[in-house]
Amino acid sequence: MSKTALITGSTSGIGLGIAKCFAKQGYNIMFHGLETNGPEIAQQIANENQIKTAFSNANLTNAEDIEKLVERTISTLGSIDVLVNNAGIQHVAPIDEFPNATYEKIIAINMNSVFYASKAAWKHMKNQKFGRIINISSVHGIRASEFKSAYVTAKHGVIGLTKVLGLEGAPFNITCNAICPGYVKTPLVENQIKDQAKAHQLSEDEVVEKIMLKKQAVKDFIPVEKIGEMALFLAAENANTVTGTHFTLDGGWSAQ
Ligand code: NAD
Repeated sequence: MSKTALITGSTSGIGLGIAKCFAKQGYNIMFHGLETNGPEIAQQIANENQIKTAFSNANLTNAEDIEKLVERTISTLGSIDVLVNNAGIQHVAPIDEFPNATYEKIIAINMNSVFYASKAAWKHMKNQKFGRIINISSVHGIRASEFKSAYVTAKHGVIGLTKVLGLEGAPFNITCNAICPGYVKTPLVENQIKDQAKAHQLSEDEVVEKIMLKKQAVKDFIPVEKIGEMALFLAAENANTVTGTHFTLDGGWSAQ
């Protein structure tokens, strides 16, 4: 029987790239995100791959909505075998100019939602003695950059939670791992290029060359398909001994 994956933030960027990889392998997918064309994306990918899909625009700042998202995945698609906690936002500003509300929103979406979604999926995964939780952290889960106080805090927190869930899940064949990408050219990064240009008083081309890709030994943005392939490996039945850890996909950034 086909397995089911709930991928948060899968109507854009990295999440959409991961969803396409899972769809090609026959996973049924709960698409999720705030993009207004979400239903069309879910339908098109269902048609192209002969899989079942559904779509939700649940707001990840709300714990109850997250619980309902997990319940809806099970009621419409039959189970939740893989949970990819991917949705995230960014804001770039020096700490003394960083709005409190923006800090709290980033912590809520990028970190707290990972806890709430994992908690909601846990009992189902435990009962079926199978679960794969994959958290999209970032190279900023293990390294810092200036002007990203909320994001770096949240992404480090996700790695901590990943370790705990790796330990707690072991008796139930539930694994939990994090992927730490370097820069991927998605709407999130395109906005960041503009913000960084303002914060550092550089042109957008200079931000890409002098700030973003400067830290990567491989001078290319990371393609979303590579993140999808890594997630597919972590979701596999035979990846059951890989847990509680993180995998970098950062063009050598964290080797320094
Ligand atoms: P993106 O902006 O393309 O997609 C983000 C997704 O999250 C969208 O579907 C959006 O609708 C959803 N989302 C945002 N706020 C939400 C909310 N309140 N409720 C529900 N959904 C919400 O971004 P992306 O670059 O694809 O980022 C995906 C993940 O990868 C994020 O966690 C990000 O931190 C991480 N990441 C990105 C990069 C990069 O370079 N792009 C690098 C490392 C890690």
